[in-house]
Amino acid sequence: MAKKQNQKIVKCSFCGRDGSEVGSMIAGPDVYICDICISSSVDILKNNLAAYTYKTKNSIIQTPALIKKTLDEYVIGQDRAKKVLSVAVYNHYKRINSKSSFFELDETEIEKSNILLIGPTGVGKTLLAQTLAKILDVPFAIADATTLTEAGYVGDDVETVLVHLLQAADYNLERAQKGIVYIDEIHKIARKSESTSITRDVSGEGVQQALLKILEGTIAGVPPKGGRKHPEQSLININTKNILFIVGGAFEGIDKIIAARINKNRMGFAARSLKSKTEDEDMLKHILPDDLLRFGLIPELIGRIPIIAPLQPLSEDALKCILVEPKNAILKQYKKLFMLENIELEFDPLAIDAIITRAQERKTGARALRSIVEDFMLDIMYDLPDRENVEKCIVTRDVVEKGAEPIYLESDRKSA
Ligand code: ADP
Repeated sequence: MAKKQNQKIVKCSFCGRDGSEVGSMIAGPDVYICDICISSSVDILKNNLAAYTYKTKNSIIQTPALIKKTLDEYVIGQDRAKKVLSVAVYNHYKRINSKSSFFELDETEIEKSNILLIGPTGVGKTLLAQTLAKILDVPFAIADATTLTEAGYVGDDVETVLVHLLQAADYNLERAQKGIVYIDEIHKIARKSESTSITRDVSGEGVQQALLKILEGTIAGVPPKGGRKHPEQSLININTKNILFIVGGAFEGIDKIIAARINKNRMGFAARSLKSKTEDEDMLKHILPDDLLRFGLIPELIGRIPIIAPLQPLSEDALKCILVEPKNAILKQYKKLFMLENIELEFDPLAIDAIITRAQERKTGARALRSIVEDFMLDIMYDLPDRENVEKCIVTRDVVEKGAEPIYLESDRKSA
C-alpha cells in the first residue's frame, strides 16, 4: 500500500487522462501532454492556418484580410486602396500557383490584372506597392515613367525596369518572373490630347506602346548588367506574364474630366445633383477607364490595367498618425537616435500640430513631413553634442515655427 502511494500517477495536464488511458505521454517541467491532446492541438492549428491561407500544391498565399492587416501596420488610411490591392494580389498569386495544379485542365484562362494607383502625390502609392512586395516576399523594382523612352531614344528602355527586377531577385530568374514592378508618374506619359494628332505627344505614346508589351506578357531579352543592348551581348530572357505591374500617378486634372462626364450623363433629368457631384472632393472614386482615355492613356494600355484603386488626400489626423504611429514613424526614428546618446526626446503636442500645418501648406502629402522635421532637427543635432549633461530635449511649437531653441533639461536641474 505504501509503495502504491509513493508511485506518482502521471496525468495529462490538459485532459486529465492518466498514463494507462493513453498511448503515450510527453513530459515537460511539471507538465504532461498525452498523444490525444497533441493530435487535437495539431488539428486546431491546421484549421487556424487554413482560415488565413489559401493553400496550393506549391505554396501558401495569405488571404486578402491578412494582407490588408499587415499593410495597416505600415500604411495609414487608404482603406479602399488597401482592400483593392489585397484582393488583386491574392488573385494574382492564386492564378500563378494554379498554373501548376489541376486548374490546368480547365480551359478558362484567368487574365493578369495589373493595377493603377491613382491619387495625389505623397499619399502612399509607392509605399503601398513597396510594402506589398515586402509582405509577399517577392522581388520589387521601381521605375519612373518619365525616365523611360522608346527603344532607340536617349533615356532608359522600358525593359530596364526588368533588369532592376532581376537585380532585386539576385539574378534568380524564376523569382524575378513572379515579382512586382511599380511604375510611378504614369500620367506623365499620357498623350497631350485625346484626338488631335498635331498636338499629340509622340514620345509619350511610344512609351505607352512599349510598356503595353511588357504589361501584357512578353519574353523580353534584357542585358544582364543593364544599359543599352548591343548585338554581341548575351541577353537574359524574362517572361513578364506573371510579373505584377502596379502603375501610379496623380493624374492632375482628371477630376474635371470625371465631373464633366458625370454631369453630362445627368444633364436634364438630375440637375439638382449636378452641383453636389462637381463639388465632390473625392471625385476619384467615380473614375472609369473612359476618363483615363480622355486624359491621354491609349486604350490598349488601359485594357491591360483593369484594376483602379483611388487614394485620398491625407487628412490632418492621418498626417499626425504618419508622424508618430507606424513602426518606422519619423518621430520614433529621431527618438531612437537620441536614445543612443541617453537623451530623451519629446515633442510637445503643439509642435506636432505646427508640423502638420506646415505640411498641409506644402500640398505634397506626407512627403513634406520628413523635410520639415529634418529642417528644425538639424540645428538641434548640430548643437547637442557640445552640450553637457543634457538628459531631455523638448521640441516646442516655437522650435518648429520660429527656429527657436528647444528646452534642454540637464541632469542635475531635472532632479532638483
Ligand atoms: P506617393 O503617393 O507619391 O507614391 P509615397 O508612397 O512615396 O507617395 O510617400 C512618400 C512618403 O510619405 C513615404 O515614404 C512615407 O514615409 C510617407 N507616407 C505617404 N503616405 C503614407 C501613408 N498613407 N501612411 C504612412 N506613410 C505615408
